[in-house]
Amino acid sequence: MRCLVSLLLALTLSPLAQADEAGTAKAFQKLRTSPWLLRQFMASFPKGGDLHNHLDGSIYAENIIKWAAEDGKCVAPITGQISFPPCDTSRPAMKDYAADSVNYRQLVDAYSVRNYERGPKSGHDQVFDTFGRFIPGTLGREGDMLREATNRRGAENTVYLELLQSWGMEKARAIAAAEAGAFRAGRTASDWARHPVLQRIVTDTRAELDRIEKRWRELSHCGQPNAEPGCGVALRYLAQVIRTFPPEQVNAQIALAFLLVKADPRYVGLNLVAPEDDPSTLRHYTEQMSVIGALGKLYPDVKVSLHAGEFGFGLVPPEDFRDHIRQALDVAGARRIGHGEAIGLETGALDTLRDMARRGIAVEINLTSNAIVHDLKGDQHPWLLYRQFGVPTALSADDEGVFRIDLTNEYQRAAATYPKLTYRDFKQLSRNALHYGFVEGQALLADTGSGRFVASCMGERPGSEPKAARCRDFLATHAKARLQWDLETRFARFESQSR
Ligand SMILES: [Zn+2]
Repeated sequence: MRCLVSLLLALTLSPLAQADEAGTAKAFQKLRTSPWLLRQFMASFPKGGDLHNHLDGSIYAENIIKWAAEDGKCVAPITGQISFPPCDTSRPAMKDYAADSVNYRQLVDAYSVRNYERGPKSGHDQVFDTFGRFIPGTLGREGDMLREATNRRGAENTVYLELLQSWGMEKARAIAAAEAGAFRAGRTASDWARHPVLQRIVTDTRAELDRIEKRWRELSHCGQPNAEPGCGVALRYLAQVIRTFPPEQVNAQIALAFLLVKADPRYVGLNLVAPEDDPSTLRHYTEQMSVIGALGKLYPDVKVSLHAGEFGFGLVPPEDFRDHIRQALDVAGARRIGHGEAIGLETGALDTLRDMARRGIAVEINLTSNAIVHDLKGDQHPWLLYRQFGVPTALSADDEGVFRIDLTNEYQRAAATYPKLTYRDFKQLSRNALHYGFVEGQALLADTGSGRFVASCMGERPGSEPKAARCRDFLATHAKARLQWDLETRFARFESQSR
């Protein structure tokens, strides 16, 4: 009988008119103790975005091996270090080496954390060591990488992806290495930004990005009837600075990052990556924050998210974890923090937390990453502390290929680990992952908890054309608002399906 009523309703009402948040929340509470029902639920649950996703780390080992074999690259047995041809007996061709199934298994382990618990290395070392081994296998395959990264998000019902990538950064490092003193601290940041070679790298990198995106769209059949799911994901980039190099090389990269964001609307911000506990990072952390702060004054509309406080207790001396998040906020002007695991160890953490809540500084939470790299899980993780203080947070995938996860896994993990989080909490997490994205334009939401719209679209119902002209104009003007409208439409559809 109930099915008949549902059917009749479906025939007489638009599907979105039946959106039932309370019913969906109830169904969620019932199924959340079953890992596989929860997985199914979270796979189709609409996700606003993924704000912390490294392109290099998002690629699964299987594709790296395939591309390296197809491209004639070589591999060192045991370590799995990929290199360019010509190959020799100490570095056979990947095509031949990986044809052996035992070798193949070893390579998958070498390019990810699969089976790492059985080896002598910590999760931290396995994760950070793996990039250097496999990255040569991805060079020349950037369009293929975009295809993999976007398709996974598209298939998981995700609206927006902010990808971290380092295109052009190697060239910036090379000019700093070649020209002694050109990027020395003390010279003004505006000098760096005017550097003619750096300007040329900006032009070249943008042209390179055109080529990469073209290949991605071709591979994915974007714009055609058989378009892959990644074509529908709104994609933006964060220029990714590798911070473990000598200071002048880091400065040149930071300058390039600012210039790329200024020059190309596809870049919406920048970030610093590579281990925060590396001796070079620790030695130059404050200087790096100052350089970003100085360039930020020059280019105040360039947005910055920073990996900060990516530590577990004991990884470094206490003096090194007492103020990294504070410095990222106060010195570098970060608008988002990645990881932030060490917040509870910082001096004056409670003031910092209150300040973050007041200023709307979001934290990108990477649960699996933190569990593997720093053994930080469950109640030991400061996520609930951020939530307790009202700091906005969003779930992200970090290096999903290396961790062999996806974004759905992170929602599932959160629901299974933190039983007090409700369906509405997950809706807010999903909304946060778009609301705190750096995508251009004003926001549609006045509040990510209730989902209330700003005045221009007050009272409108997602799923059909907005009734008021001013809402239509608002959505036409602001990309972020448009994507948020899309997310709310997906929620309405999701909540109209019976479970
Ligand atoms: Zn990261």
